[in-house]
Amino acid sequence: MQRKFSFLSLTLLGCLLASFTTGLAQKSKVNPGGSTGPDRPRLVVGIVVDQMRYDYLYRYWNQYGETGFKRLLREGFSCQDAHFDYVPTYTAPGHACIYTGTTPSVNGIISNEWFDRESRKGVYCVNDTTVKPVGTTSISGKMSPHRLLTTTITDELRFATNDRSKVIALALKDRGAILPGGHRANAAYWHDPYLDNWVTSTYYMNALPDWVTRFNERKVADSLLQYSWETLLPIREYTQSTADDSPYEGKFKGETAPVFPHKLAELKKTDGELIRRTPFGNTYTFMFAKAALAGEQLGKGEETDFLAVSLSSPDYIGHQFGINSIEVQDTYLRLDRELGDFLSALDRQVGTGNYLVFLTADHGAVANPQYNDDHHVPAGFFEEDLLGDTLKKFLARTYLSDTLLLNVNSNAIYLNRAEIAAKKLSLEEVQSRVVQLVSSFPGVAVALSGSELGRYLQRDGIASLMQRGFNVQRSADVSVQLKPGWLDWYVKTGTSHGAAYSYDTHVPIVFMGYGIRPGATAAPVSVKDIAPTLAVLLSVENPNGTTGKAIQSIVERP
Ligand code: ZN
Ligand code: ZN
Repeated sequence: MQRKFSFLSLTLLGCLLASFTTGLAQKSKVNPGGSTGPDRPRLVVGIVVDQMRYDYLYRYWNQYGETGFKRLLREGFSCQDAHFDYVPTYTAPGHACIYTGTTPSVNGIISNEWFDRESRKGVYCVNDTTVKPVGTTSISGKMSPHRLLTTTITDELRFATNDRSKVIALALKDRGAILPGGHRANAAYWHDPYLDNWVTSTYYMNALPDWVTRFNERKVADSLLQYSWETLLPIREYTQSTADDSPYEGKFKGETAPVFPHKLAELKKTDGELIRRTPFGNTYTFMFAKAALAGEQLGKGEETDFLAVSLSSPDYIGHQFGINSIEVQDTYLRLDRELGDFLSALDRQVGTGNYLVFLTADHGAVANPQYNDDHHVPAGFFEEDLLGDTLKKFLARTYLSDTLLLNVNSNAIYLNRAEIAAKKLSLEEVQSRVVQLVSSFPGVAVALSGSELGRYLQRDGIASLMQRGFNVQRSADVSVQLKPGWLDWYVKTGTSHGAAYSYDTHVPIVFMGYGIRPGATAAPVSVKDIAPTLAVLLSVENPNGTTGKAIQSIVERP
């Protein structure tokens, strides 16, 4: 961390003056823009933990160390009642919301994949057939942010410094890297598990930088999977979870029971993507993040840099084992230690107090419906196929056509608008008859038509979350939300997310480091408030679709 001597002296003088006037020594300010430039940290680090429920901060508290989550909460500022305010609460919309400061209605990322009316095919949020893979030949490299309709806070930092700031985004999942990086990232990297390469696309560059090539040559995944996954602490100490062998948990391919030790060296022979389903996917991501810090010299340039890290493995593990498993508890205990280690690496590389870090999640998760049912909590598995069949029959009977239904899943129903127009039917009327039918289906809480959601009218409750998740061009003819505890998931074990309820919307938001006073607020905060909060802290413009507001208890200077 180099600073000009004269600037240091001025800072020291400032400190002395401050201690005379307030009796408090102030932390020296780093000002990469020079003495007349804006007051900014050297580096901003965004950490998104995929599928981290807010209560995980406290559920495993007694087994956390002092340097990870507890350090964030001790030295940082925590928003205790932070929620997503749209549905569906999936990975792509979550990452987009965090970085764009707005919801799918504006940023266009309505799901991980959705039905595209024009091509009449499903589209994946970051797939892009116009770009080429870099670091792999597989289609897993044909990705870009082209479906993201607004700018991100990372884009705005680049604009603010005329592209002198570096923005690097990385995650095992492509969408966990690409959406945070926005349109103008220097690089987004994600992982091709079959080659064990961190890859990118020609959207960003034509060849991997040397530091990435060298990192890929180490074939780290192989060495991380050579041992068994044992619990970090003696297994009898995992008193916050159900028994290891529980009916709510899914098994690894090749296992006969979902129990420790998980013999990874064996399992990897039949599962080419195994690394992401273990806590060592986090280990791997942090290793690559540290390689990025060194390889790109982040936080050492003239301007503020931004490193966006998303940890994908907790989501895969949560999906497989559910929120009450020893596997999830163990994942968070390990993550806690590795987070501490990563923060220490930032302290060493950039200097304690010279970087700003925030940690949040892209959504939470619900308890397994069978677990809820066994504990007398109403819940159920939604029968998506049955809904599709019922709808098809209904439309055939009512309109004498078996081609009116184009696509259906548990939260979105797309109708054949061309046929509706050709038959001179009223779209609004067909939609509302579908709404009526779907509303009586087991597990459905609310169904609303696109015509209703598209009308500019502020709604309350679940309908308001549906409206903020509704994009006029991309969203369905009928949007559906399930009852609390209900789940649309393709197996009966493990869990998922996507709902409008607290278990999916409530996530941690903690800021720590440069310009942050320790503390907490119990005031309601929206996840879309993160980007505008960063905009104030960094003195840059808000992302261009921002509908969130800066979190006052963080940005207000006393
Ligand atoms: Zn996710
Ligand atoms: Zn997920």
